[in-house]
Amino acid sequence: MIEVKNLTKIYEDKNKQSFKALDNVSFTLPNTGMVFILGKSGSGKSTLLNMLGGLDKITSGEIVADGNAFSSFKQEDYDNYRNTYIGFVFQDFCLIDNLTVYQNIELALQIKRENNPNLIFKTLENVGLKGFEKRYPKELSGGQKQRVAIARALVKRPKLILADEPTGNLDSKTSTQILKIFKRVSKENLVVIVSHNREDAENYADKIIEIEDGKIIRNVIRNKDYNNNFVINDNVICLPDRKLTVDELSKLNEKIKENPVTITSTVDKFVEQPQTQLDSRKVTFDNKNMSTASLIKMSYNFLRHRKISLFFTIIFVLLIITLLSVCQMFMVFDDRQVINEALANRDSEVFVMKKGYDADDKDYIRSNKNSFINDNEIQSFISNGYNGEIFKLYNTPLPIAAHNSNADGYYYMSDEYRYSDIFAYEAVGVLQCDLDYLTKIFGSGASLNVISGDITPSYTTNQLIITDYIADSLIYFNLDNKYLPTNPNDIYGNVINKIIANHYYVCAVIDTGYKEKYASLIEKFTQYSTSNDNKQLQTLIRSEDFVNFIENLNTYYNVAYTLNPNYAEYAKNVAGTNVKSARNWLAFNGSIKYKDKNDVSKTTDKMYYTMYIDTAYQSTPFNKGEVLMPIRAYNSYFGTNYSQEDVGYNKGVTQQTIQLLHYNQDYDNVNAVPAFTKEVTVVGVVMEEHWIINGEDFREMFEANLFPTALYFDNTENISNIYNTGRQMNFVVTTSYFNAIMDLTNIVGIFTDYFGVIGAILAFIALLLLINFGYTSVKANIFEIGVIKALGGKNKNLSISFVLQMLFIGLIICILTTILSIVFVQVTNTVLVNSFVKFYNNEILKNLVILYFMPNILIIDLCATIAISLISSLLPIYKLRKVKPFNIIKQKNTL
Ligand code: ADP
Ligand code: MG
Repeated sequence: MIEVKNLTKIYEDKNKQSFKALDNVSFTLPNTGMVFILGKSGSGKSTLLNMLGGLDKITSGEIVADGNAFSSFKQEDYDNYRNTYIGFVFQDFCLIDNLTVYQNIELALQIKRENNPNLIFKTLENVGLKGFEKRYPKELSGGQKQRVAIARALVKRPKLILADEPTGNLDSKTSTQILKIFKRVSKENLVVIVSHNREDAENYADKIIEIEDGKIIRNVIRNKDYNNNFVINDNVICLPDRKLTVDELSKLNEKIKENPVTITSTVDKFVEQPQTQLDSRKVTFDNKNMSTASLIKMSYNFLRHRKISLFFTIIFVLLIITLLSVCQMFMVFDDRQVINEALANRDSEVFVMKKGYDADDKDYIRSNKNSFINDNEIQSFISNGYNGEIFKLYNTPLPIAAHNSNADGYYYMSDEYRYSDIFAYEAVGVLQCDLDYLTKIFGSGASLNVISGDITPSYTTNQLIITDYIADSLIYFNLDNKYLPTNPNDIYGNVINKIIANHYYVCAVIDTGYKEKYASLIEKFTQYSTSNDNKQLQTLIRSEDFVNFIENLNTYYNVAYTLNPNYAEYAKNVAGTNVKSARNWLAFNGSIKYKDKNDVSKTTDKMYYTMYIDTAYQSTPFNKGEVLMPIRAYNSYFGTNYSQEDVGYNKGVTQQTIQLLHYNQDYDNVNAVPAFTKEVTVVGVVMEEHWIINGEDFREMFEANLFPTALYFDNTENISNIYNTGRQMNFVVTTSYFNAIMDLTNIVGIFTDYFGVIGAILAFIALLLLINFGYTSVKANIFEIGVIKALGGKNKNLSISFVLQMLFIGLIICILTTILSIVFVQVTNTVLVNSFVKFYNNEILKNLVILYFMPNILIIDLCATIAISLISSLLPIYKLRKVKPFNIIKQKNTL
C-alpha cells in the first residue's frame, strides 16, 4: 500500500515566483482497486500523480510505497521504482511515433531487461488490439493509441498504474471501453486515475480523492453496504440511484398519499475513508539495466530520428578530418624521404653525388657547377657508415670536339638548351676507379666487354679507358682535327694506343650497351635533327627516355675511366709536359680577381672568365708571367681608352703588374680562397672576354684546378645514408628529381606554417560539429527520453546510448576518412606530379611520390575523432540528468 504524508509541492518559475500546487496532502492507497483523483483543472491532480510516480521531486512531506520511503531514494531508486512498480498512462498517450505498436510496448520491457514477445501479444490481446502490432501510432485512432499506452503500462506488470486523464481526449463510447479495461485491471492492481469527470468517478471508482487548490477536500471509499434497492420502511422511503420500475413507482405513489413520509437515498454510495491499518510489508524494486542489444536498438532509434543532421555531421567531419590528415601529411613532408625513395627506386648500381655550393641557398645547390671535394669530405661518408668503394671523378674532360671553336666551355649534354647532337663535344671527366667497378657497371654476367684494346692497367702511362659512347663521339666529330684520331679504326681497331688530346692514350674501349638500349632514341634524334623538325625534337628531348639517357650519359657513358690510382699526379704532369701543344681544351672556366701591385686594396669584383694559354697566340713569344687581358676589363680598371688597334702582344698598351687570383668555380662565394695566386704583367689586350696566359702559368693554374668534382658510390644499399651525409656537406644529386623536389620543398615549406593553423582550425570545427550533434541529439529526442524515463529508463542506460551513438558516428567517420584519405592522397599526388611533369617538361618525374599516405597520422587523427566523439557525448549526458520526464511530457501536452 501507498502512504502519502503531508505532501507539499511548490513550483518555482523562472522569476522565482513560487506556487504551491499541493498543500499538505495526506492519504493512503490500497493494494488493489480503482482510485479516482477528482478536481478542477489546475487543482493539482497531475502534480499529485507525478509525485506518486516519482517523476518529480517532492518539496516536503513523504510518500511511502510498500515500505519504501521516497525521502530515502537516490536517483536510481526512483528509476527502479518507476521501472518495476509503476505503469504510466498519459492523457495524450505519449507513444513514440517512429516505433510500431509492438516496439512501443517492447521498449517498456527492454527497460526491464526482459524479452517476451508472447507477453506483448497477450497484453495487446488483452486491450483488444490483436493484430495491430505492426502499425505505427499515426495509423491508430485515439482510443487505440490509449490502449497501446495501457498495454505498454500493463506489460511491465506493475503494481501501480497511474493514468492522467486517460480518457480526456476520447469520446464517451471509447472512454467507457478504456475505463472498463482499467476496471478489469484494478481487480489485481491498483489503478489511480486522474479525472475531472465526476460521473466516471461515481461509476468506476473504489475510492475518490477530490482536491481543490492543492488541498484534499474529499477522501471517500465506495460504501460496501450500499445497495440500490427501493425500500419502504414505515414512514421512510429509500430511493435507489436509478429509474424506478412501474411497480415501484406505483408503490411509491401509494405511500406518498398516506402520512407524511421521509425520502432518503438508500445509503451513501461513498463513505468517509476510515482510518486504515498500515500494513508493514516491504516490496523491493528490481535493479535492471538494459541489455546491450536493446541499448544499440535504442541508439539506432535516436539516430534514425535525425537522419539529415547525422548525414551532414558525418559528411562535414569526414571532410574535415580528411583535410586535416592531408594537411598533416604535408606538414611532415620530408624532401629527403621523397628524394631517398626516388633515388632508391632507380635501378642504378652506382650513386653519384656532386658538390653543391651553399647550404643556405638552394639555388646554388641546384647549380650544375662543380666544386672541389676534399679528402675529409670523402672520409665523412665512411665514418658515417658507408661501406663500399668511393670513386672520384676528376674535372679533366676530354676535348672530343676540340676543333670546334664553340667548344670553349663546359658543354654538357645535360644542358638542355644547348645540344644539337646526340654525341657530346666533351667527356664529362675522368673517373678514377678499379676493374671491379667497371665490371659491375658495364660488365654483363660480371665480365667486362672490351671492344678493342687491352684493359689491363698500366700505371706507368697515362692510359684511359673510354666508353663506346666517347669513341663514337670522337668518330662523329672527327673532321679535320689533327689532334684527334682521324680514322675510326684507330679507336675501334688495333692501333688503340693512339694519343688523344695529345697526352692521353686510349688503352681500351668498353661496351656500355648504350647503342642497343637507346637505339630508337638515337634514331629518332638523328631523324628529327637532320630534318630540322624542331617541334618533334623538343618533344623528344623532354621525354622520359631522353632525360634518362642524359642522366646515364653524364653518369656513366660519357665518362672516361682510369685504373691509375695516381691519376691526379699524372694529369698534372701530363698538362705540364704537353701543355705547349695542347690547345683550347685546356681552357677552363673560373673566376679571377686581380689586385693592383701598388695598391692591394684595389681589386676588381670577381669575374667569370675563360683562361686560354698562349698557344692561341702562337705567333707571339709569350713569356712566363705575361698575360693578355680583355680590353674592356683593362680600360675600366686602369681608366684607359684603348681600342681595337691596340690589341695584341706588346702593341703599345702600358704594361701593368697585377696580382691574378684564380678561383675555382666557387666564384660566387665571397669567402672562397683562391686556388691560384700569381703576380703577372699585362703585356697587351685582346678583344675577347678572356685572358691569354703563358703555357707554364697555365699548367700551374691547371694543377691548382685539378680536383675531383663528383663521387661515385658503388654500394647503393644504403643510399639514404649516402644522400644524407652528402647533403650535410652541400652535396647534390644531379638527377632530374632533384630540382623538382627542391622546388617542392620550398613551396611546401611556405605552406607548412599555414597548414598548422588550418589544421588547428579544422580540428576545432570538427570538434564543434560533433559537440553540436551530441548537444542537439538530446534536444531532438527530448520527448522520447522523457517517455523512456517515465517508463523507468535509467540515466545510466540513456547515457550509454548516447555514448554508443557518438561512437557509432566516430567509427563511421573513421572508416570513411580512411578511404577518403587514401583517395585524396592519391589524387593530390597525381595532380602535383602531373603539374611538376608539365612544369619541368620532364616525364621522368611522373614516377615521383610526393605525398605519402601516412597511416600513423591518420590513426592519430582517427583516435582523436573517436575521443572527440566520446567527449561530445558528455554534454548530452550532462543534459540528460536535468531532463525531468514530467516537464517534457507536460510540454508535449501543451503543444
Ligand atoms: P491539474 O492537473 O489538476 O490540472 P496541475 O497539477 O497540472 O493541475 O497543476 C497544478 C497547478 O500547479 C497549476 O496551477 C499549474 O499552473 C501549476 N503548475 C503545474 N506544473 C508547474 C510547473 N512545472 N511549474 C510551475 N507551476 C506549475
Ligand atoms: Mg492535469
